[in-house]
Order: sequence, then structure tokens, then C-alpha cells
Amino acid sequence: MTPVQIREYLEFYRDLGIETIYRVSASAPTKPPIISVSPEQKPIVPKPLFDLPSLAPEGDTLAAIRADIGDCKRCRLCEGRNKIVFGSGNETSPLVFVGEGPGADEDEQGLPFVGRAGQLLTQMIENTASKEGITIKRSDVYICNVVKCRPPENRTPQPDEMEVCGQFLFRQLNTIKPKAICVLGATAMKALLNTKEGITKSRGQWHQWNGIPVMITYHPSYLLRQYNQQAKREAWEDLKTLLHFVYD
Ligand code: URA
Repeated sequence: MTPVQIREYLEFYRDLGIETIYRVSASAPTKPPIISVSPEQKPIVPKPLFDLPSLAPEGDTLAAIRADIGDCKRCRLCEGRNKIVFGSGNETSPLVFVGEGPGADEDEQGLPFVGRAGQLLTQMIENTASKEGITIKRSDVYICNVVKCRPPENRTPQPDEMEVCGQFLFRQLNTIKPKAICVLGATAMKALLNTKEGITKSRGQWHQWNGIPVMITYHPSYLLRQYNQQAKREAWEDLKTLLHFVYD
């Protein structure tokens, strides 16, 4: 299916009140089905034409999620990617960090946050933990992204790309069931939380995703800009709050 056809499907099911489509089978017809209208003017909802497994399929595992992603061609991001970046770290961690999407280094290595922003994230986690007397390393947490393929020129992922790939992020989070999630930046915030506020207002505060506490903070790429000293201080504060909540 083309991205336009996938979007038609997503819109069609959203009109039916179904927000998340899990899997669009390769054999799905190219047009949304026609809804017939009953004499009482109630739409007769056709049976879904493709698989809609629940948000947390029973017995789900990270390996099963990765296998379901396969050699993904569900959205246009597959066209320019080198490697799918699924996630890395401790798969039973009480803490998961969620970024936006892979950059050039991540696309090359198939691992999240390994470029400059990743080095800063490592420092932020390890230095804050060490200063606060919490004995964790980056390898003790789990790190992943909203989209698993690098957007061209590192542009922001588009809503349909986030929706299609978001199903896998949700399954990752539901499988790991961490004690807390740390959302890095506005894209991850949009993917997980239904908030209209900007990142500057929302950061440093607890939110919830599916019953799991979520701390919002700035994306490390934003912090790499020289003039963001104030934002850096705030991000360090956010991490302190987060790490104490998870590890005390
Ligand atoms: N930025 C992200 O959001 N994710 C990565 O993996 C790397 C940079």
C-alpha cells in the first residue's frame, strides 16, 4: 500500500473511533470499504479488513515486536533508511527514554542515540546519577525512538509516520512496563501525551501514559545549542527528579 492509501485507512478507522491501526496487511484492498447505512441511519460497521491486535498482545516480547517490524515498508521513511533502529539497553529496565527518530549515526549503526546528542544523553544520565549517588549507567536504562527509521535530512517525523510506527513504540513500552518513561523533546511528547502545551511549559512535570508516569524534558539536540544554558540546567533538574523517583 502507498502512504496515501495507508492514510486513507487511518482516517477511515479514526472516523469509526479506532485511533490506532496495528497492521495493514499487504493484501488489503486499495480503497477503504464502503459503509452501508441502516434504516435507522446507523452506520453498519464492516468487520476490519486487516489485523487489529490489541495494544498489548498477550505474551508480547521485544523480540516479537522486532520480528513484526521486519523489513518494514509501511511508510515512506523506509526509502532512505540504512538500518532500522529498534532500541537498545536493559530490556527489563524500570526507566525508558524515548527520543524522536534516528539521525545519521544511528541509521548507520542501527542503535539509538549514538551520535552527538546520544553522547550528551549518556553524560546526562551517568553524571546526574553519579552526583545524586545513584549507581546506574546508560546500559541500565532502555532507549528507543518514536520512529525507527531516519527521516530525510533529519526532518521532524510526519503525523502518519508517527502513527504507523507509534504502534511499535506502544508495544515496546507495554512490554517493558517501566516504572517511568522519560520523553525527550516535543515529538516524543506528541506521540505519547495528549497535551496541547509546548515543551517549555510541560517539561519538569509528571504526566501519564497508559498508567505509567512520564517525565518530559528537552531533547539533547536542543541542549547542544550553545545558548541553551538555562535549558541545560532545567534538563538536569528534570533528570534528578526522574532518577530519584525511579531508583530511590
Ligand atoms: N535523536 C533522536 O531523537 N534519537 C536518536 O536516536 C538520535 C538522535
